[in-house]
Amino acid sequence: MLEGSATLRFLGWAAYSPSSKIRARVWSFDETDVIDGAFIATRVAESAARRRSLAARTDACRLVFSESDGLPGVIADRYGPFVVLELTSVGADRWRGELTAAFAALDGVAGVFERSDVEVRDRESLERRTGLLHGEDPPEHVEITEDGLRYAVDLRAGHKTGFYLDQRESRLALARLVDGRRVLNVFAFTGAFGVVASSHGATEVTQVDSSAPALALAARNLEINGCAPSAMTVADAFSELRRLRAAGQRFDLIVLDPPKLAHHTKGLDRATRAYKDANLVAAQLLNPGGVLVTFSCSGLVSEDLFQKVVAGAMLDARRDARIVGRLHQASDHPVHLAVPETAYLKGLVCELS
Ligand code: SAH
Repeated sequence: MLEGSATLRFLGWAAYSPSSKIRARVWSFDETDVIDGAFIATRVAESAARRRSLAARTDACRLVFSESDGLPGVIADRYGPFVVLELTSVGADRWRGELTAAFAALDGVAGVFERSDVEVRDRESLERRTGLLHGEDPPEHVEITEDGLRYAVDLRAGHKTGFYLDQRESRLALARLVDGRRVLNVFAFTGAFGVVASSHGATEVTQVDSSAPALALAARNLEINGCAPSAMTVADAFSELRRLRAAGQRFDLIVLDPPKLAHHTKGLDRATRAYKDANLVAAQLLNPGGVLVTFSCSGLVSEDLFQKVVAGAMLDARRDARIVGRLHQASDHPVHLAVPETAYLKGLVCELS
């Protein structure tokens, strides 16, 4: 403390994380707030209320998106009657009981299941945990509906909390692009984009992912929507794209939705090379007039940088292309204006000459 001149001034109420690089996460800037069960119940109820209009389209959405909803380290996704909770910071972990009670109190919630099995917990010196926190145990697959299509979700073991809710608007956009086209869905996971393509008039759908269980669920998702089975390949996408190119395969629309490739600034160069590589080979696989729907969910890769990477890929592929659409994380994953890091998902719809 500076001798004499120091004045103690309230800045905010923050949760302290002793072993994290992010030492304190602010829960409130209001000195009169008391962080307790009632505070948490209010934040949870308000966040859920902000998503109410989504109910007309779907029974699955993100209820709480961490800092964006004033609950740092708390992720909560709703799948029908189940809430999946992911706690990623010491502060969030400390309030597990109160958070569980708050989600259990929401209308129609039958069970709260924890999926705090993420790598970021290691950096907070927290153990990974999964298991039932309240009420009914979820079945092996929970079926959700979104924009008239059905998806089986493995919320116990699937990536994230089981489904890429953040891609809702991209699925809607894709529905308008696929009619009459031969579609390749790369990094397909449980085939949500494949279901959209198949049920909106794609002539043929091929899906690629490195996970066999994910593609098994993708097959089931086609089936429950009354779609024809698609070709499925369990493979490394980067090699598979090259194999398809060598085999002379061509497509009219390709979706490229890789996992987060940039985890820290040090790995940014490598990640941008990987993005460029996949986009370059995809461009070469497209017929004239083809469409590339390409994503990056790495927060470290800005929209501007991503556009440059895709532009570079097109140049090297010698393909002339224009952006005809831009895609972002859905509205239940809001970007807090004071926390720009909450923006992470960006996509480009590119039309090739
Ligand atoms: N498009 C999906 C989400 C993709 S998530 C959806 O809308 O639901 C990223 C996917 O990439 C995961 O399913 C993961 O299994 C897969 N994956 C990760 N690395 C891969 C690789 N090298 N080759 C192929 N698939 C990969």
